[in-house]
Amino acid sequence: MGPIEQLIGELKEVCAGLPDKRVGPRREGEYSMADIGLSAFSIFFMGSPSFLAHQRALQRGHGRSNCQTLFGMSAIPSDNYIRLMLDGVPPSAFDRLFLRAVEAAGPLSPFRRLDGRVLIALDGTEHFCSRKIHCQNCCTRRRSDGGTEYFHAFLGASLVAPGHQRVMPLAAEFIAPQNGAPKQDCERDAAKRWLVKHGANVADLRPIYLGDDLFACQPIAEAIRAVSGNFILTCKPASHQTITEYLAGAELSEHRQTVSQRGKRTTTIYRWLSAIPLRATEDALAVNWFSVEIRNHTGKRTYYNSFVTDLPVTAENVAELAACGRARCRVGGDVAIPTPHSAGRAGSPHPVPHGRASLTAAYG
Ligand SMILES: [Zn+2]
Repeated sequence: MGPIEQLIGELKEVCAGLPDKRVGPRREGEYSMADIGLSAFSIFFMGSPSFLAHQRALQRGHGRSNCQTLFGMSAIPSDNYIRLMLDGVPPSAFDRLFLRAVEAAGPLSPFRRLDGRVLIALDGTEHFCSRKIHCQNCCTRRRSDGGTEYFHAFLGASLVAPGHQRVMPLAAEFIAPQNGAPKQDCERDAAKRWLVKHGANVADLRPIYLGDDLFACQPIAEAIRAVSGNFILTCKPASHQTITEYLAGAELSEHRQTVSQRGKRTTTIYRWLSAIPLRATEDALAVNWFSVEIRNHTGKRTYYNSFVTDLPVTAENVAELAACGRARCRVGGDVAIPTPHSAGRAGSPHPVPHGRASLTAAYG
């Protein structure tokens, strides 16, 4: 059995164990939760919203469909029935399958960087937005015209690496109203929950967590360290006053690399300063700051970004640290994440109706 068949088999097991809202004894011919869950999955796996309709036609014509041969399903429920039955299913039921998929992918050598570590990019993404349709798990925001917008978002975590386009998704943490929480949920809180839930499970991979400027703060850095992770986080001067003040009077270490391509020289300048406080408190974590600046053949700056990390920065590793820090930018941007997540991306047509409870998240 190949890894895909094995993973679909494990998905089937998870689907079979999903909470079933039907009461009373099962009737003859009733769809199983496995068939219902796999039907929904197959739409995303095949990347075609009309996949099931086509398979039903195939089944009528040939008596056998790809749903049976590819996914081991015994019957294909209607779209409405699938939605009805999956609304309310906890999305976390599928979490363990993501790590299984990483294990099934074999050695992670294409993803190893910085002395055998892996990079896990944490990134918030919206996957539903509406002024009219909403549910109990929607986040809300006021728009400038006074109206309310309802949206769903999640904190995605993906294995990434500079130098290739492959991305491996891990379980997501949904940004949604939390029981008993006084304030609206946010990306940072979702990241902390993700680390508590999954950090220990991926610690063996020796992860370096990547995140944008929003995550370059003491609580997130501490949460990462608490699960034996390291970090490379974007750190903008405007939102990090303490660091900016330290940099102003300091003599920075510098490393330059010049490459010539088709007769044109590009210079990359790395600068760094070690052991500076992340914030202006007694208990501030000491971090290492570095920046990367790219200048084209005319000397014009074409790229600049700065980061903080808990890894030591040296002339030997600063270029690789910078490449790793920049690897995050491709997630959710240029690179399509090969998961059901991508099918529900904000801005693209939402392929499933909203549901009342968890339908958007379970599909998302
Ligand atoms: Zn909602």
